[in-house]
Amino acid sequence: MKREPEAFLKEEVKNLYDNHLNWVIRHLETGSKPHAVVDGKEVLMLNTNNYLGLAVHPKIVQAARDALDKYGMGAGAVPTIAGTFDLTKKFQDHFAKFKGVEASLLAQTGFAVNQGVIPQLVGKGDYVISDQLNHGSIIDGVRLTKATRGVYAHNDVSELEKQLKIADAAGARRILVITDGVFSMDGDMAPLDKIADVCEDFGAMIFVDDCHGEGMLGEGRGIVAHFGLQGRVHVEGGSLSKGFGVFGGTVAGSKDLIEFVKNKSRSYLLSTAHPPSVVAANDMAITVVETEPHHYKNLWTNTNYFKGKLDDLGFNTGNSSTPIIPLIIGNPGPAQEMADILFKEEGIYGTPIVFPMVARELSRIRVQMNAALTREDLDFALAGIEKVGKKLSII
Ligand SMILES: *Cc1c(COP(=O)(O)O)cnc(C)c1O
Repeated sequence: MKREPEAFLKEEVKNLYDNHLNWVIRHLETGSKPHAVVDGKEVLMLNTNNYLGLAVHPKIVQAARDALDKYGMGAGAVPTIAGTFDLTKKFQDHFAKFKGVEASLLAQTGFAVNQGVIPQLVGKGDYVISDQLNHGSIIDGVRLTKATRGVYAHNDVSELEKQLKIADAAGARRILVITDGVFSMDGDMAPLDKIADVCEDFGAMIFVDDCHGEGMLGEGRGIVAHFGLQGRVHVEGGSLSKGFGVFGGTVAGSKDLIEFVKNKSRSYLLSTAHPPSVVAANDMAITVVETEPHHYKNLWTNTNYFKGKLDDLGFNTGNSSTPIIPLIIGNPGPAQEMADILFKEEGIYGTPIVFPMVARELSRIRVQMNAALTREDLDFALAGIEKVGKKLSII
């Protein structure tokens, strides 16, 4: 049989475009900050994970520059083969202290943490129990395990308890419960205190992926600090690319956990270490969070103001209780249209989120607050959102 090796590409891409399911990737011509130039147009960005505004913080940029001058660009190899930098050790000690845990590891990305760590923690004869709305990288990590899988309805602790009983009755060797800290599509938080309570009854290990919670909760330390659960959550996965404004993934927990991960996680063992400039910038980002609390305060002042006004206008913001605020619209068409008009006519950049990322009838524009937005910016955004919301009969 003669095959056309690439024929499917054109067809699949056409299908995506025909069904309006393709991503439009825009291009920034400035740093990622509230007033940015995107595709040649000055817009107000309401769609980044750079919650504390640190992506362009001068001290962090300077730390990267200094490390670049001293160490050059690349790391040369994976950490286990040619080592990491003294900067990496300094970062890991600093980050562990900041998080209130024994040890931490700088991993490639938050995505890589889930791919690398989850399949090592559980295997044949074990159970892994996951929130239904967990991030795709958790779902992929779970798919790599040989453990039996259970899923509980979103944030439903009584369903989690039922799953724990099933695993227990089946004689599971180990049980791993895994949840996002803050859910990125809805901006709601996992009930981690209640999860910790039920897991303790079964001796289940708890893994929280706090990629969005770090920076925005617990004075920047994340959801575990927010609930005061230090010592009761076994694995904290995180990202330095969101609230901390730089780049990388993290694992935080006991010394044993970190030794285990260093030796077992395939994404850690097989992917190159970070450039030293990135490591230095990450370290400075933590220092900035520790020493400049106004970013955190501004983030929450902005969140409370903006969400209050959106609710007053009659938008459906779902169960959001964090700086991630969805404007739930319904069908994908109007959500995309609203985002498009906001960008082109009002200079407001918010991202439409449609199926398959959320259910078809829960299409939305996701708005994310940022510490660097001023009250003037927020009022500008609210006026534009109100105008377009009324024009499209959404409010
Ligand atoms: C963003 C995100 C990741 C991926 O983190 P990166 O550092 O960007 O790879 C993983 N899990 C969750 C819950 C996330 O929101």
